[in-house]
Amino acid sequence: MKMPYMGKILVVDLTRGVMEEETIPDRVYEQYLSGMGLGAYILYHRVPPGADPLGPDNILGFCSGLLTGTGSLFSGRWMLVGKSPLTGGWGDANCGGTFSPAIKRCGYDALFFKGTSRDPVYLYVKNGRANLKDAGDLWGMDAVETEELLKERHGAKAAVAVIGTAGERLSLISGVCNDRGRIAARSGLGAVMGSKRLKAVVLDGVKRIGVHDRAEMKNLSKHCIKWVNLPLPLPPAGIFARAGALMRVTPVLLAQDGLLYRSILKKWGTAGMNQVSIEMGDAPIKNWDGSNVDFPLEKSRKISPAIIREREIMKYHCYSCPLGCGGISAATGKYARIHKPEYESILALGALCMNEDLDSVYYLNELLNRAGMDTISAGGTAAFAIECYEKGILTGGDTDGLELKWGNTEALVALIKKMIRREGIGDLLADGVKIAAEKIGKGSMEYAIQAGGQELPMHDGRNDPGFNVHYSLEPAPGKHTTGAHLYYEMFQLWKKLKDLPNPGLFITKDGKFEIDEDKARAAAACSTFMSLANAAGMCLFGLFLGATRIPTFEWLNAAMGRQWSPEEYMVIGERIHTLKQAFNVKHGIESRDNFASGRALGVIPQQEGANKGRSVDIEKHAPLYWKQFGWDTETGKPKPETLRKLGIE
Ligand code: SF4
Repeated sequence: MKMPYMGKILVVDLTRGVMEEETIPDRVYEQYLSGMGLGAYILYHRVPPGADPLGPDNILGFCSGLLTGTGSLFSGRWMLVGKSPLTGGWGDANCGGTFSPAIKRCGYDALFFKGTSRDPVYLYVKNGRANLKDAGDLWGMDAVETEELLKERHGAKAAVAVIGTAGERLSLISGVCNDRGRIAARSGLGAVMGSKRLKAVVLDGVKRIGVHDRAEMKNLSKHCIKWVNLPLPLPPAGIFARAGALMRVTPVLLAQDGLLYRSILKKWGTAGMNQVSIEMGDAPIKNWDGSNVDFPLEKSRKISPAIIREREIMKYHCYSCPLGCGGISAATGKYARIHKPEYESILALGALCMNEDLDSVYYLNELLNRAGMDTISAGGTAAFAIECYEKGILTGGDTDGLELKWGNTEALVALIKKMIRREGIGDLLADGVKIAAEKIGKGSMEYAIQAGGQELPMHDGRNDPGFNVHYSLEPAPGKHTTGAHLYYEMFQLWKKLKDLPNPGLFITKDGKFEIDEDKARAAAACSTFMSLANAAGMCLFGLFLGATRIPTFEWLNAAMGRQWSPEEYMVIGERIHTLKQAFNVKHGIESRDNFASGRALGVIPQQEGANKGRSVDIEKHAPLYWKQFGWDTETGKPKPETLRKLGIE
């Protein structure tokens, strides 16, 4: 029977310069699929407890999704996995682009790197032959320059994943790029790659990817594309801010249907949400201390979706994506054609730092992409530094003379350049807010907004408490790509899994803040589903179409020749999710240490703005959430009987 997985991984020992192919038994794919599931399986068993994330015992994995290359849609995400130097526990980051199918075309489901090379190297795989090559000439180059040079050297068809200078300098907020600056940014895994002195991975293969029932895959994709292309009248972008303002004041909201978000993504990309999010209270402002009152319409107008779209010169689609939420933009100065900044980057480098200068946001976004530094973490860390300066915790003597005032664009640009170069104050900040606050002391930890050491993304959990639940309780904390109340509404999983609660058509704002069993089941379903989706290689934005429109379970069945039910697939998601949590236990992570910062939780509620008076009691959420997975309700540790039930050795 033809299977959508390649059945093999490549393990590269960088200390010894040795590469070995390993065959993975079918039962592993049945239990974990591929992608993040396979990554969790390998890392859980092979990274020893106490391993230094930046030492030779850590393993860095590049994993392709089980559905990648099968004719399914939205299935081209690759997963980067490793022990995170930023959080000390399970780390993952995921990225689109074109790298994921290239892994499989080289004959592997994943590539794993262990050990540490003495000198900079890159891996080159061509038609089944893998070689480590000298990267001495590439070390010190930015990610885009390196990718261009490697494509010149090995052919334009080669797919390249690469670190920039931030990863080389072991910045704990660095990631790994592909496709000219699209970045698997989170968890600090660029530093792991840098610590291994692995500059790049270059893949050029032609292997065919098997599928059990290609005709059925096609039929299912046709069904999905119908929903992607379904015409829906869209309001002009100018109305978004007013819609956000209305959502701020109304006590009852319509449950969100992902079709509307699909249309916004298609036309404006994630930047379509810029103003709506600020107005409704989704976007954190002024290092999470401000609100829409501090960043009113006169300011947010400068980052309106219409303005971002005006600068776009063409759409950008990841592999196998019919939607194309990305874009290539025209820019002035040194970099003429750049990736359009995403919502996360625009807000992190903008309103979070009270910066209203859009040109600087484009410029910083490109600098950070080229350096391979996470824009969310960089913006969050800059905002922290500005607040410390404004409060007198940092002085001009500490900041190399930079006047870190809210809205001082020039100082912000200079600060981020210093962070990239690890120069002066930038060296202190290049490892993120938590480490910086530990070094600075003087009560600065209060202003370091993070979960488990990772800077929080641009979605305020005081607006949607589900974000705070997932920021605090996921094995990889501080990420926005697994769940929220909003995500549960859009996934519409209850249409496939009859035991899951249906949130109904109308959602009361106060109701979102109630803590009960149904909320915990919904949150657990998001975590489980996203663990499954990340094993399949699916894009979150595709999944927002809703479970009956994007046939994830059906594609998996057609690709593998199975007749498994959605419930059976969710057990796979549960197993992967539990294994990541078990990884954290093995590496000494206490679940409560991952809870989000007090300010983000609203421990002291805000006095004005969209989220006035709101707080989230994560201590009450945690036991209910842990219970759904059979984890100890006091500690969050998976119980032995749970591990046994899931077949985790
Ligand atoms: S929706 Fe956007 S991020 Fe997702 S696969 Fe398509 S282009 Fe990539």
